[in-house]
Amino acid sequence: MKIRNDIVNSKKLIIFDSDGVLVEEGKVLDGAIDLIDFLTNNKIENIVFSNNSTKHPLTMKKIYNEQGLEINNVINSGMLSVDYCKKKNISRVYVVGEKGLVDLFEENNIKVVDTDVDAVIVGMDRMLTYEKLAIATRLIRNGARYIATNPDPAFPTKRGLEPGAGSMIAALNTSTDKQPEIIVGKPNTFGFKLIFEDYKLKADDCLMIGDRYETDIIGANEMDIDAIIVNTGIAKTREKPGNYKNYKEVPVIDNLRDLILK
Ligand SMILES: [Mg+2]
Repeated sequence: MKIRNDIVNSKKLIIFDSDGVLVEEGKVLDGAIDLIDFLTNNKIENIVFSNNSTKHPLTMKKIYNEQGLEINNVINSGMLSVDYCKKKNISRVYVVGEKGLVDLFEENNIKVVDTDVDAVIVGMDRMLTYEKLAIATRLIRNGARYIATNPDPAFPTKRGLEPGAGSMIAALNTSTDKQPEIIVGKPNTFGFKLIFEDYKLKADDCLMIGDRYETDIIGANEMDIDAIIVNTGIAKTREKPGNYKNYKEVPVIDNLRDLILK
């Protein structure tokens, strides 16, 4: 399927997923630099909205820029979990997650501790231990709120798919017999609403480009944002969804360069 560039030209902001769309396994995917340069030259803003909470958004932006991707702004599910906690006046949290997530809480003056917490925050943690799960379990069972970053079951690596935040959530759901009160990342609309507020834009002004139906596309569908799936990442290996209540068919492209064809 060939897509004319007017689908991009009619937008003010392009919202990109990261893994599988712009980059994968640390490498920039084919067509990504061309499309971002096209947007920059045509004064169309871009933002990365990633469910990955392991890195600080500013670190992510720096890495993109070093790779030649002129990304204007980055939000991730870690930032959204901080924002949610601020809205709920949460001031002490225990974090099952990596340094990028812990740093975000600390710099927003939310204490990261393991006793007397208001909430347990759960994100992808490649240093996960039994002890961390045990602490989180006790805190949630003793009444702490249970908040998660993103539902992604698996994460693409050079070795293949490995456990994502969804796997950590599944472990805690089992050990606590509870579910998170919110999973702030996509497909939740929390992040999209924040983007609309920050940029003072409406759904019609935006386009979401993702590689996962369950997160990127369902989230965009819920907000009535036009969406496109790119067949470079995880989408290649997954079935199309047929039974999501609000699923709308979206165009599928093989390469981001397809979006700048005249
Ligand atoms: Mg992705």
